[in-house]
Amino acid sequence: MTPVIYLKKHKEESLLRFHPWVFSGAIGHVKGQLSEGDLVRVCSSEGDLLGIGHWQEGSIAVRILEFDADTLPADFWKQRIGKAYEMRVGLGLVRNDNNSYRLIHGEGDFLPGLIVDVYDDTAVLQAHSAGMHIARHDIAKAVVDVVPAVKNVYYKSEATLSMKNHFPDIADGYLIGGESTCLAMENGLVFGIDWLRGQKTGFFVDQRENRALVERYSHGRRVLNMFCYTGGFSVYALRGGAEVVCSVDSSEKAMELVKENVERNFPACTCHEAVCSDAFAFLDKSKEESRKKKAEYGLSLNKLSTFDFERSDLYSSYDLIILDPPAFAKHRGAIRNALQGYKRLNAKAFEQIAPGGILFTFSCSQAVDKEMFRLAVFSAAAMSGRKVRILHQLTQPQDHPVNIYHPEGEYLKGLVLYVE
Ligand code: SAH
Repeated sequence: MTPVIYLKKHKEESLLRFHPWVFSGAIGHVKGQLSEGDLVRVCSSEGDLLGIGHWQEGSIAVRILEFDADTLPADFWKQRIGKAYEMRVGLGLVRNDNNSYRLIHGEGDFLPGLIVDVYDDTAVLQAHSAGMHIARHDIAKAVVDVVPAVKNVYYKSEATLSMKNHFPDIADGYLIGGESTCLAMENGLVFGIDWLRGQKTGFFVDQRENRALVERYSHGRRVLNMFCYTGGFSVYALRGGAEVVCSVDSSEKAMELVKENVERNFPACTCHEAVCSDAFAFLDKSKEESRKKKAEYGLSLNKLSTFDFERSDLYSSYDLIILDPPAFAKHRGAIRNALQGYKRLNAKAFEQIAPGGILFTFSCSQAVDKEMFRLAVFSAAAMSGRKVRILHQLTQPQDHPVNIYHPEGEYLKGLVLYVE
């Protein structure tokens, strides 16, 4: 018998507006035995049925899977994953030259707690809730049934699930298959994806559209890709005709990945450089180098306005800079420090970038909203004294949809700036 949660008086409002979370504080009383990750029915204090979802200890106590229902159909996973796949196909994301995409984006695909990314013949499944962990085998089977290209399903949740006391068996590994010949393509570019050892599910599919925009602006430019990881932005910039591309990341593993991916797409390329360094230290060093260069030519560091535009190469080594750092704020309590971090980082880029340069700057911290991020970048621009204009305001792509009833699903923000 499925247990039933009765909410406190007036706590049903958000569920009636299809927000999929029930917070523990909203719960009045419970009928039946609750068990971590199991299905529960949720009712108002009056006993009206609101929906059915996964129960879990913690602040988000229930994640609703279906509103206005007291059971899930037998083919629930296949149905819902099928809808998500249909949408990706309909949006033109599943193509021979683009076989990497996010198949399930949690609440954005009405499956709170579940992430599935597809790379060619392999799907990487990540559970963020106990319920999705329990259902992992059914989910894996449904993914293979629904997506013709997928032959392997890898489960990667050791880092995302913290309830080890309830489930000592949480372990990463293949749920289906294991023999992958994966050749992940994104907009015609090839990437090696290491879901076993890589960050997140192995690749940041969420930057696909923004990488394509970098490609459009790269022709003849000297590109600096900070926090490059697998080098997604670098490879697009090279295809766009960048004069040189420098990829920077503090991880040694990222250096290997970016070099491999450049080699895969542009064998024997001589205009790419990979530097293993802390981003802040790299920008400081590069500022010092351009200061020295300018001094050699008798130019003053502070006289930007009198500087000859034709010699902008002396002023800075880069005229397109990408800043795509990891989330500086992982929770709301870290927002202040995160904003300081964004301000400091962007200020360094504004100091650096050549006149007429283009800055792509991102934040993937969910806790930092669009306005806060823009204000941090504004402060950085003001500190630098440069004239800055916004060319584009960027966000996450179509395969990371935001459920309109769950605005918390919006996390990626980007600005493309023209710097005089
Ligand atoms: N731009 C990438 C994703 C970046 S993920 C893409 O398109 O796929 C963030 C990266 O920042 C990680 O690879 C991590 O190793 C790197 N990183 C974290 N802190 C850093 C620091 N202080 N300096 C340089 N790189 C850093």
